[in-house]
Formats: sequence, C-alpha cells, structure tokens
Amino acid sequence: MIQLVDKFERVHDYLRISLTDKCNLRCLYCNPDGDLEKLLHSQILSYDELTRLIRIFVSRLGTKKIRLTGGEPLARKDIVKFFETLSQFKKENPFQLCVTTNGTLLEDKIEQLKHHGLDKINISLDSLQRERFEKITGQDSLETVLRSVDLAESLGFTPVKINVVVMRGINDDEVLDFIEFAKDRMINIRFIEFMPFSENKWSENSFISYQELKNIISERYELKELHHEIQRVAKDFKIQNHKATVSFISSISNHFCGSCNRLRITSSGKLKLCLFTPINEELDLRKLLRSPGVSDDEIVRFINNSLDRKNFQHPDVGELLKLEKNNMLAIGG
Ligand code: SAM
Repeated sequence: MIQLVDKFERVHDYLRISLTDKCNLRCLYCNPDGDLEKLLHSQILSYDELTRLIRIFVSRLGTKKIRLTGGEPLARKDIVKFFETLSQFKKENPFQLCVTTNGTLLEDKIEQLKHHGLDKINISLDSLQRERFEKITGQDSLETVLRSVDLAESLGFTPVKINVVVMRGINDDEVLDFIEFAKDRMINIRFIEFMPFSENKWSENSFISYQELKNIISERYELKELHHEIQRVAKDFKIQNHKATVSFISSISNHFCGSCNRLRITSSGKLKLCLFTPINEELDLRKLLRSPGVSDDEIVRFINNSLDRKNFQHPDVGELLKLEKNNMLAIGG
C-alpha cells in the first residue's frame, strides 16, 4: 500500500469526487444563472470508471474517506445502484463513504443509500425561511429539505451536518436562527465562508469572515472550542446545554492548507490537487483511464507522482478571483 504524501509531508487519505456537474438548484453562491456549460454524458466518468478509481484509491493508495458530491450527486441516474456496487467492495475494503447533497432528492433514497454503506451525510441548507430559500436556490423546496434533515437524523446519521454558506445581506441575519434550529438535535451546523468561483459573483461586500460570525454567536451564547489544533479544517464549538455543535469553515480568512489531506476528482475526471488549482493544471485521469490497456499500476504511479506538484497553500482572494472556469459544480466543493 502506498501513502499519498506530498512535499510538505501531508498524507492525502481523503478523496472527494464530483459525480456530475448538473444540479437541480441555482444557488446564488454557486451557479446563480444556471448557464455554465454542461458536460456531455460521455465526458463524465462512467460508474465503471469511478468504481475502478475508488478501488485503486482505497486498496492501493490508502484512501480512508470518500465524499461523493457534484453538481447534485443524487441527481445522477442510478445512484442507488452505484452505491450497491460500491457496497460489495466496501465490505472487504472498509472506508468511510460520505455524501454532500442539497437534500431535495434524498427522501426516497436515503434508506437504500444507508443500507448500501452511506456513513455520513452533509446537507446544504442556507435559509430556514421559505421565500428566502427559494430566492437563494431558485426552488421552493425548503420543506422537502427539512424533511430530509429529519429523516437523516432519525436514521441515525449522527450528526447530520448542515452546510450554510453565509453571505452578507442575504442570510447573515439567520445565524442565530440556525443555532436555535439545531440546539436540541444531533446536528452539526457548519457556517462556511463564501468563496470566489467563476461566475458566482463573489464580492468583498457579500463576504463575512468566520471571526465575525463567531462574534455574532458569542454575543448570545458561550462557545466552547472542541479542538485546539490550529490547522483543523473546521473550527468546532459546543454551546452549553445544546446537543448540536457549531463549526466554521474559514477557507478564505484563515485557511487550513497546512493540514490539507484532500484530493478531488472533477466530474470530467480531472484530478485536482487543490480546490483552487487552475484548470490548465488539472491532471487528466479520464484520458488515462480511457487509454487502451492502461494497468492499475500505471494509474497508481500517475496519481502518486502528481502529489509532487501540490503547492503548500492556495493563493489569496485577489488571485482566486482571476481563475477562469473554476466552478463548484464541476469540482464539488
Ligand atoms: N449539490 C450538493 C449540495 O448542494 O450540497 C453538492 C455540491 S455543492 C457544490 C457542495 C458544497 O459546496 C455545498 O455545501 C455548498 O454550500 C458549497 N459551496 C458551493 N459554492 C460555494 C461557495 N462559493 N462558497 C462556499 N461554499 C460553497
């Protein structure tokens, strides 16, 4: 077994895969106009190709955790069958299988997904107000998503993680509502800093730092930090007498690149060493997978060698704003 270690001695045992660049929502911070160019079906990795890659990452490259994301991963046809295929392999090669979803297509699938090995779930939910939810996502689906959260909790996904991208003037006045919403539940509310991506209309005015969010909460509640490692991805807190936990993902104001353990595969099968790798530096796994006769050993070498190119940290916002065609739908967050 090879360990994927980069020049900075970071071990990469967490893989995030975007299953599709298509999404049924039009979130303001991600895909506001819905007119990003879409891949043809032949351009996304097939389930057979994905299964092969997952097998290689887990059994040859030490991957311990895989997150399926998108676009909307549950919008991909036959997703339950894909889980069923993975579950056979997972029984003999344990790894943690996670999904990030907008929760609109989850209700009728969640039990089967759990049955086939889904371990953890993150549900994106940016407003608890019906009209505002529709304004942010383009769809009047708040009730559906709330039912999905209830169901996930009742099925024992503990905690259910709720991802909230906070934007000034859009939903920043709901921070305390989210704390109240979760307080008696096995939920982890994750306030995520708004990050700039192509076409998502990021501006400094709409950005709120984690420190500011934390201050808003601290005025009402006493936050007790759960971990003290400086480089953790999420800064996790507990509030006395609350069952829920609160986390902040401060990718912009206080990055955590020093502890990065993630690799990403985009929906078009590109290996991305960082969320903000420019597209011309992405590594073409799809081409390799589709070259006749390529062995697993060659794929292992390709992935392992690529780690040498990983930078220590992502550039600052000024540079991120210049990145072209870097969109979350293809990368998956
Ligand atoms: N469709 C799924 C969903 O909505 O959760 C998965 C894909 S979505 C791109 C994955 C995560 O990225 C979501 O939690 C979303 O909130 C987050 N995200 C997307 N754009 C973002 C941005 N500009 N800044 C911060 N987080 C973002």
